[in-house]
Formats: sequence, C-alpha cells, structure tokens
Amino acid sequence: MPPTPAHEPRPSDPSRPTAAARFAARTERMTASEIRALFAVASRPEVVSLAGGMPNLAALPLDTLAGQVAEMVARDGQVALQYGSAQGVPALREQITEVMAAEGIRAHADDVVVTVGSQMALDLVTRLFCDPGDVVLAEGPSYVGALGSFSAYQARVVHVAMDADGLVPAALAEALDRLAAAGQRAKFLYTVPNFHNPAGVTLAVERRAQILELCRRHGVLVVEDNPYGLLGFDGQTYPALRSMDPDNVVYLGSFSKTFASGLRVGWALARPTVREKLVLAAESATLCPPTFNQMMVSSYLSGHDWRGQVKSLREMYRDRRDAMLDALSAYLPPGCRWTHPEGGFFVWVTAPEGVDTKAMLPRAVNAQVAYVSGTAFYGGSGLGGRHMRLSYCYPTPERITEGVRRLAGVLEAELEVLRTFGSPTRSTTRSAPVRGTQTPAPDTT
Ligand code: PMP
Repeated sequence: MPPTPAHEPRPSDPSRPTAAARFAARTERMTASEIRALFAVASRPEVVSLAGGMPNLAALPLDTLAGQVAEMVARDGQVALQYGSAQGVPALREQITEVMAAEGIRAHADDVVVTVGSQMALDLVTRLFCDPGDVVLAEGPSYVGALGSFSAYQARVVHVAMDADGLVPAALAEALDRLAAAGQRAKFLYTVPNFHNPAGVTLAVERRAQILELCRRHGVLVVEDNPYGLLGFDGQTYPALRSMDPDNVVYLGSFSKTFASGLRVGWALARPTVREKLVLAAESATLCPPTFNQMMVSSYLSGHDWRGQVKSLREMYRDRRDAMLDALSAYLPPGCRWTHPEGGFFVWVTAPEGVDTKAMLPRAVNAQVAYVSGTAFYGGSGLGGRHMRLSYCYPTPERITEGVRRLAGVLEAELEVLRTFGSPTRSTTRSAPVRGTQTPAPDTT
C-alpha cells in the first residue's frame, strides 16, 4: 500500500490525546476579543465602522519617511538589520525620555525598556507580577487588550467605577478595603488616566494624588498606560502619575497613536528592580525588539518636526470628535448619554434601560454601522450591556455623521420593540456606571 501523503489527515489514534487536550490550563481563557471577531464584517466598505481604534495615518509624510528609511539603510543598514539589545536601541531610549518629559516625567534612558508596542509591555508586566488567581484592579470599563493579557495569565480583574472625571477614588478605596478584609491584596492597579479607551474620559488632576496615595497605603503598584496622552485636543497635557510617584508607578508608552502603529514600538519605564526583570522577560519573548523599526522611529524623531506632526494629528482627531458629538446630539434618541472626550479616539455611549448592545450588534451591522458592545470591556463578566464604544479616529467626518445616523435608526427600532413588548432585547447583561455617578459597579470584587 502506498504511504499516506503528508497533506492527508491521518486516521485518529484514540490512545493519543488531541492537541487541544494537551493545551496548558492558561489557554482556557484565551478567546478572540469581541473586537477581533468584528473586524471581518466591520471592514466591508459599505459598513461605517465606529468599532476599531485604528489610528488615522492619512497625515503622515510618507515621502519624507521613505527618504529617511532609504538613508538609514544606506548609512546604518548593518546595524538596522542586525539583532540588537534586549532593552532597546540606546539612542531611541534617550529620545523616549524627551517624549515623556512633555508629561512631566524625568527619567533616565537606563530605565526605559523598548517593547513590541505597549501591548507587549502589558504582557510582560502581567507575567512579572501575576500568578493564577491574583487580583488586578482596573477601571470599569477597561482596555480590552489589557484584559486579554490579564486573562492569559489567569489573573482575576476587579473593576473599579469611573465617572466623567475618571477613576473614582472612593470606589478604589472601597475595593482596596474589601480586598484587605478578605485577606487579599491586588498586585497592581491598571489605569489609563488620559483620554481613556474605551470611556473617553480623563482622570481629574486632583484625583491623581489621591489614587497614588491609596495605592501606596495598600502596597499596590500602579501600572499607568498612556498611549493617548499627547493627543489632547487643546494641546493640554496632564501630569503623568509616574511624574508624581516614580517609585510606585510602572509607566507604559507607545508610538502607535502619535506616529505609526504598524512599527510596533512601545516602551515601559520602571525602577531598576522591575526594569531588570522586564528586560529578562522581554529577552525570553523576543530576544530583542526589531532594530530596524526602532531606528526608523529614532530617525523620525530626530529628523522630523514630530511635535508639529502630533499637533496636526490632534487637529484631525478634534474635527472628527466634533463631528461625532454633533451627530450624537442631532440623531440619538432621548435617554441616551455619552461622554465628551477632550482627546484620544473614543466616545462611550450609554443607551436607555433595557437595550442590550451586544444583542443589537447584528442588527446594526445589517444597517451598515458597527460599534463595539460595552461587554467587551468587562472581560466576560456580563457587565456593560447597555453601553457601546464608538471610535471617531478613522472614518471621515461625513462618514461619522452617516454612521451615527444609521446607529440612531437601529436604536430607535430597538426602543420601539421595548415599548411594544415591554421587555429588554435580551437581559443577560447588566449596565455599569461611567458617567455622572459614583456608584461602584455591582460586582467590583
Ligand atoms: N493601551 C491602550 C489603552 C490602547 O488603546 C492600546 C491600543 N489600542 C494599547 C495599549 C496597545 O497599543 P500598542 O501595542 O499599539 O502600543
């Protein structure tokens, strides 16, 4: 008998476990994010996607960049195309300290670890601090990619309520006390203080010291994730938490929103004990971050008016934010509320009682508009069903207006069903407070 060709499936041998049966326990909670699942439909051209948070690269000076890359390869190709230091290219680490100075951070390049986007820094930080079952405190709602990392390391997330001024110190104090009473201590507080993803709010300056003080008192580290800090629409920057408490804050930054997300260059800034472990963890993950990409960012920062570029990005995003807020006011039915971002990419919408944004999504996609249901930002806890994240970063102002008009039609139809049948579209999800309330989410521990 001829041998079975390699590409044909072999008959299964019941004495051998399947690949799935061999997976480590930690893979159980590795599931596709709701956002990833949406990408395929949302990227059809007829659908206005208010779902993804893709930075808008239209304003990048591509010709200038092409020239800089050609020059870099001709001049430094032997270095750019070679392995580099696990901690990152020294010249870039110096420049990163200058970027961070805009938000009041005084740091040494030795304490900067370059990562493959800040997403990798999130992964490394979680790997360093979290054993299975450890608690991480995070805003409710919280950045979905961070929740993915926490879940991959089997950490337990306790969401802390936010309002229009960001994380609520009283809710944090309550969560910390409740954990202490149960004999537990969170490993860290994960927070996005500026132009929050997905909530679109910014942590009030007077709350920053209170939050740092609370964490310090309870022996809880703060992980400050700040990819949008330079994208405040009036050019204002806020004091980084790291600038106020250098010893107890690990700071994460990224060039994804201020330059080019495809280069995957981000960083972590940490005190030496943590930084040394971060470098070891980074080395085992990638040996070193891509030298070529780092050198490209470095020559962009030194050879281009990057501050001017960030200013024009801010203006572009501000126009889009305005288009979205105008359209929300013009079209959304009564009873809807939304946040008013002063920077960044996202608006967080709260629909009237009874609406289930996850159940409604297929109907929205049929109406050719996409968003992300609030449930994605609560890590499968069932919270967030009355909410949705709308992003205004990518579509043109005209498309944003059209997208919100379509969404309003879908919401109207949903509310009509509710009025007629008097029951929610589906009742498996619960709402969670963000704006104008200081009540912690019902299951914050
Ligand atoms: N943190 C937050 C809050 C984000 O919104 C994002 C990107 N959406 C990231 C981290 C990851 O960014 P990157 O890996 O591209 O640096």
